Amino acid sequence: MRMKWGKWLMVVVIGAGATGLGVAWDLMLRGVPVAVLDQGDLGHGTSGRFHGLLHSGARYVLTDAVAARQCQTENLRLRQVAAPYIESTGGLFAASPDVSENLVQNWLRGCHDAKIPVAPASPVQGMNAQWKRIYEVNDGVINGYQLLQALARGIRQGGGQILTHRRVVGARPMKGKIHTIVMEGPDGLEEMRADAVVNAAGPWAGHVASLWSDPLPLTLSRGIMLLFSHRQTPKVINRLDVPGDGDILVPHHHISIWGTTDTETDSPKAPTPSHAEVAHLMERGLAMFPDMGEWRVLRSFSGVRPLYRAPGNLARETRHISRDFVVLDHPLKGAFSVIGGKWTTYRLMAEQVADRVAAYLHYATPCQTGAVPLPLANAVGVGADPLLCECESVSKSQLRAFEGLSLSDLRTRTWFGMGPCQGTFCGHRVMQWRSHQIGEEAASKELAAFREERERGMCAALWGDNAVEWLLQRNIRFQSLGESQRADD
Ligand SMILES: Cc1cc2nc3c(=O)[nH]c(=O)nc-3n(C[C@H](O)[C@H](O)[C@H](O)COP(=O)(O)OP(=O)(O)OC[C@H]3O[C@@H](n4cnc5c(N)ncnc54)[C@H](O)[C@@H]3O)c2cc1C
Repeated sequence: MRMKWGKWLMVVVIGAGATGLGVAWDLMLRGVPVAVLDQGDLGHGTSGRFHGLLHSGARYVLTDAVAARQCQTENLRLRQVAAPYIESTGGLFAASPDVSENLVQNWLRGCHDAKIPVAPASPVQGMNAQWKRIYEVNDGVINGYQLLQALARGIRQGGGQILTHRRVVGARPMKGKIHTIVMEGPDGLEEMRADAVVNAAGPWAGHVASLWSDPLPLTLSRGIMLLFSHRQTPKVINRLDVPGDGDILVPHHHISIWGTTDTETDSPKAPTPSHAEVAHLMERGLAMFPDMGEWRVLRSFSGVRPLYRAPGNLARETRHISRDFVVLDHPLKGAFSVIGGKWTTYRLMAEQVADRVAAYLHYATPCQTGAVPLPLANAVGVGADPLLCECESVSKSQLRAFEGLSLSDLRTRTWFGMGPCQGTFCGHRVMQWRSHQIGEEAASKELAAFREERERGMCAALWGDNAVEWLLQRNIRFQSLGESQRADD
């Protein structure tokens, strides 16, 4: 094991999701030296597996007034400091005929109390014509991967380090204070000196806190989502009711995301959705959009929410645990955890953790992330060279900007493989390009991992054109390319 990183004062942030990168950006702007470590790439956790919604807060006004207010305030802030990564689509809330007028009036009152602007609205094409009570709010869409890249760029430009594919496996104290972080990376075990550590490990936060023997009261909840090709509506569409399964449609990039569910789980790893979960989501969707069965489904995926179970909260259902967040100081001095919250509130969460860390290290500069705009994510232009991914218009020159990354990491940086073909053709083209860098055998392994991940998401939603695409993929592999098929394939 080598002590490779750091002699000077250093704050180590564990987790390169929205929260961890937000904390590092905040500390960096205060002049505090930071390093971010992640076991995967940027957005490896829930930040790369969410619904894409910039909440207005209207979803929470009936159940969680604090979360509703936080969302509205942060919604307005992010439009200022992260404008290139926010799409101002607006959002509709539509009540089904089964919803009582009393509930609608309570919802309107809740929006008023949370200062969420609301106006009566007309339905968009495709919505159930029976759902006549419709209101517009300032929901939007977050381009998550791009916003993560912008944060990472800002941190690096300010001198911070971001080390991906490093899993933190140990934390060593000295005289009751955090002193050294041990991580496992591509070159084996490494150590990094830390004067403070922030656990922003999302659903893994419990595992990380147990490294300094202070387990967290964390409950995990998984949510399933379905992707449809094309933007099926111009605005976000929400069911006006107490939050439930299958009640939000988000137009995101070139696609639409329908979800989600809320079921307790015991693993931080996002599970493959089951057929039953997908069928349940479709049933809920058809009530709201009678033609949803005709839309071209692309795949399903899931994410895991870390929820902080406050002392005394004995709720059996994860839906009854607040979407608010908490910042904790551990008995080990210099160790902090941040748990819960939303993508929409990452900046606020980061501010509150950074306030504690800065006070602990005696830095007086206040938070600046509410006023300083994020840098542009990257300056990759589309080259004149041919497209490798035709569905998502990704050219070789765009990939070149991320040379050295694996196929899976390239996917999230450039969006290649995310379109209707789900990598059937572009997977092979990008693999061929990768094989010039790492050799054919290693590139083939990357392709296999990339394909397995895509296939898992397709399999739970095998109907219509998606089933045809899946069959085409298999015919290309097993007939045209002569790959040998495993018994469990
Ligand atoms: C189904 C679903 C839908 C959602 N939709 C929305 C939405 O539409 N809008 C919204 O505002 N919010 C949404 N959320 C909530 C939002 O996605 C999360 O609040 C947010 O992404 C959490 O970010 P994070 O950085 O805290 O955690 P994560 O993104 O999970 O980041 C934690 C990081 O820590 C890393 N890590 C863990 N352990 C270690 C270790 N030992 N060493 C190194 N690295 C480690 C992980 O690899 C990971 O990258 C949704 C959540 C779910 C589950």
